[in-house]
Amino acid sequence: MMDEIKIQKTLQPKEKPQLSELGFGNYFTDHMFVMDYKEGRGWHSPRIIPYGPLELDPSVMVVHYGQATFEGLKAYKTKDHHVLLFRPHANMERMNISNERLCIPTLDVEFAVSAIRKLVEMEQDWIPEGENTSLYIRPFVFATDPHLGVRPSHTYSFMVILSPVGSYYPEGIDPVKIYVEDNYVRAVKGGLGYTKTPGNYAASIKAQEVAKERGYTQVLWLDGIEKKYIEEVGTMNVFFKVGGEVITPALEGSILAGITRDTTIKLLKHWGIPVQERRISIDEIYEAHAQGKLEEAFGTGTAAVISPIGELNYQGKIISINDGKTGEIATRIYDTITGIQTGVLEDPFNWTLKIK
Ligand SMILES: *Cc1c(COP(=O)(O)O)cnc(C)c1O
Repeated sequence: MMDEIKIQKTLQPKEKPQLSELGFGNYFTDHMFVMDYKEGRGWHSPRIIPYGPLELDPSVMVVHYGQATFEGLKAYKTKDHHVLLFRPHANMERMNISNERLCIPTLDVEFAVSAIRKLVEMEQDWIPEGENTSLYIRPFVFATDPHLGVRPSHTYSFMVILSPVGSYYPEGIDPVKIYVEDNYVRAVKGGLGYTKTPGNYAASIKAQEVAKERGYTQVLWLDGIEKKYIEEVGTMNVFFKVGGEVITPALEGSILAGITRDTTIKLLKHWGIPVQERRISIDEIYEAHAQGKLEEAFGTGTAAVISPIGELNYQGKIISINDGKTGEIATRIYDTITGIQTGVLEDPFNWTLKIK
């Protein structure tokens, strides 16, 4: 049995940011959740304490060897002031998949969700209520042994922090320009590509910076072996609509199993729109474009929900998709997911968890 969550309230609540200043990931709430792990004792001492800096030994293993995982989900306030989480169990189940791969002890999914729930409930005044805003929830685990030498840590911390956010991209749901990366790779099968672990993002920054210098918002990753098959777009999964059918890369170990990806596939099936998970080469997409069959392209992820792709640049060959405008399917999926998340639309799949 898990201990009860101890609560220590802050004596200095912070001022809340203006809606217009939110951006993404810039502000943090008054409290955070923490619990510790020790080999032989398991997860223990769950607590909610004032948000603030950590004190860590300089030899703490996460800093040197990157043994850590994280998650990202959101809480929304409905018009009648209820608070909804979107598929939180799926996030914590995925964290356990990441933990397994990184030799980090797994968490009790129900307990982790209840911890998130408790923290969000306490911080509900921080959930912004403007258009396209939400409270971003960041659970994470990291190795805390003070030790040099590569091995699994014997101690860990699990934490949850909260950040009120606006749109992920300043462009909002406007289409973005994407650079098809054919030099750097993000992950390979057998590696960490299917986990949410900091190293994957460290590996991706260089390509992102180069793409930015060239005037592109994000990169489209190709597979690490043949540099031929499409994997993901930035930190999102990617979908294409070709000749009336929606296609997305299959989960083969090098890409993240996005919850928004899964939600999108379930919605498309529910609407009777054909959708296939399979290998897609970049050549196939360019070929489809040449034949006038490439109708839409978009990324899916919790942070931006849907991010339409208006332009691709692959080896200097530039194609414009749907005249650089947001497509019909992308719009319908965005409206439906955000509608369900904010309680405006019915939730036939039971995706939302009402916590207040
Ligand atoms: C988080 C993430 C996604 C999107 O997953 P969601 O569960 O939809 O937020 C896709 N790709 C990568 C690399 C990610 O880190």
